[in-house]
Parts: sequence; C-alpha cells; structure tokens
Amino acid sequence: MHYDVIVLGSINLDVKALVTSYPRRGDTATARSITMLPGGKGSNQAVAAAKLGGKVAMLGAVGEDGAGKQMLDNLSDWGVDTQFVMRNGNEGTGTFIVQVDQTSENTMVGTLGANDTITAAEVDTALDQMEAPVLLMQLETSRESVLAALKAGRRKGMYIILDPAPADGFFPEALAYADCVTPNQQETERITGIHVTDKVEAVKAAKAIAGIGPKTVIVKLGADGSVVLHEGEIYEIDSVKVHALDSVCAGDVFAGALAVNYAQHGDFLKAVNFANKAAAIKVSRVGNHQVFPTLADMS
Ligand code: ADP
Repeated sequence: MHYDVIVLGSINLDVKALVTSYPRRGDTATARSITMLPGGKGSNQAVAAAKLGGKVAMLGAVGEDGAGKQMLDNLSDWGVDTQFVMRNGNEGTGTFIVQVDQTSENTMVGTLGANDTITAAEVDTALDQMEAPVLLMQLETSRESVLAALKAGRRKGMYIILDPAPADGFFPEALAYADCVTPNQQETERITGIHVTDKVEAVKAAKAIAGIGPKTVIVKLGADGSVVLHEGEIYEIDSVKVHALDSVCAGDVFAGALAVNYAQHGDFLKAVNFANKAAAIKVSRVGNHQVFPTLADMS
C-alpha cells in the first residue's frame, strides 16, 4: 500500500475532567464536566496530516475494548487508514485521565496500555507492506517498536521525522536514525542539557543535536516560533500571530503538517512554514481533532 505519510505512534482515550480545585488525598471532588476525547500524539499527528489532505496510515495498537473501537472509528472518520493498527486482547487501550483546574493547569495520570506492547516483529511485518516518502514518529509506543521503525524506515529510504516527545520517553539511540527531529523546549533540554530560553540558546541546542546524528533539527519555541537547522544553515522562524486560546496539540499539528507537506511537495523550508501556520491556527481554536485545520483553512 502506498501513502504520503506513515505514522507510528500512540492512540489513547483522554478522559478530561474540568475541576474547581484538585481533590486532596482521600477526598472526592465533583468535576464541572467530564469529556472523553481521542488523543495520543500518534493519533493526533495522523489526523492532522489527513485533515491537511494527506493519504495517511496509522501503525499502532489499541485494546480489544470499547475505547479501542471508538479510537479506531475516530481515525477512520478523519480518513486515516487503520488497517495496520493492531488489537491487543491482553492490554487495554492507552488511557489518560486529565484534570484541568480553573487556572488551566493540568495534571495527568495514565497508562500506555496497548501502545507499549507493539513488538519489533509486528512493526517489521507491517512496514514490509507499506510505502511512503515520510515516516513520522514520536516516543509514546514501546521502545522496541520505535527502534524497529527507525531502522526499517532507514532501510526503505523513507524520510524519518521524529518528534522526541514526551521528554521522559527520550533515549539517545533514537537520534541515530532520524533525518529530522522536532523537540520543544523541554525536550531540547532533556536531549542536550541546554535550558532554552531564547533563539540564541535554541541555535546552540540545534547544533548540539545535529552533532549527534539528525541532519535537520527544529527547536520549537511556542509563541516565539522556532529555530531550524537544515543542510547546515540556521533559519529563525517567527510564529504566525494569532489570538492564542488553546495550545494543546500545537506540536502535534505542527508535526502532521510538516510531514504531509514535505511528503507531497518535497520543499523542506516551505513545509516548515506550512506547519508553523497550521499550528498557529490550532492555537487560535479550542479543542482537538474537530478543530485541526483543513487545507481550506490554509489558503
Ligand atoms: P509543543 O506543542 O510540542 O510543546 P510548542 O508549544 O513549541 O510545541 O508549539 C509548537 C508550534 O506551535 C510552535 O513552533 C509554533 O509554530 C506554534 N505555536 C505554539 N504556540 C503558539 C502561539 N501562541 N502563537 C502562534 N503559534 C504558536
């Protein structure tokens, strides 16, 4: 099967509770609302790429449970091919419980569930049947699945974009195989030890990461845009000015947009600008998959 982008990544159910204040140990608190949302960096990035016009396949795993079926239906509804998503009877679908208080701070507790059970053999078997110019990955599935996909991607000559998130999932070997990495400030510090507060520090960090392996590094700086190191040149990209309402999933939309635009047009710097604009549109809207930008929004 031929695609624009293959995404190896996590597929989660997010249970989001809006609380007035966090319950203390042993207390019961009533939430102002509870919503169930499709989440997981992998599924977010796959939906972002599909909504922007890509032919996208998801490689991942969910449980043999109701949440798994819902998450698969959601991906299909957005046009993502789910035939390579495995159903695991022994583990549940990855689930995160997110409590958001009135200051918009949040706390999360969750389990990766089926995401963490994907084996190297399963990845190899799936990727043997798939072709795409771009492979997009993060660090929320089992380490062996990440490594297997990186190696298979290299073998098959795919361009590998690694979003090294979450920061605590990082392991150095991952950098040896990626063509492009897209860390945010926390992930950049986790990888390099450099506390990135401005573009000068971001340039230093990008060069440090490129010294380890990836030829292209994008250090994302939220509202301050990003610093890009590509083919030895540094580019400082300003963010697109918007009225920021909700930055959740900004990085995922950035990654999905970058992957699909580069896969379809092959111009890396144009793809970065496309991703910058797509992420800004997301930040200007409250919500997740429903409000991710479409191609019509980008013109
Ligand atoms: P992550 O979501 O991975 O933590 P960032 O917070 O750095 O990453 O955001 C990713 C991208 O989203 C940024 O590089 C930028 O393009 C865009 N972005 C984030 N916040 C804003 C904002 N306030 N205004 C415009 N664009 C933004």
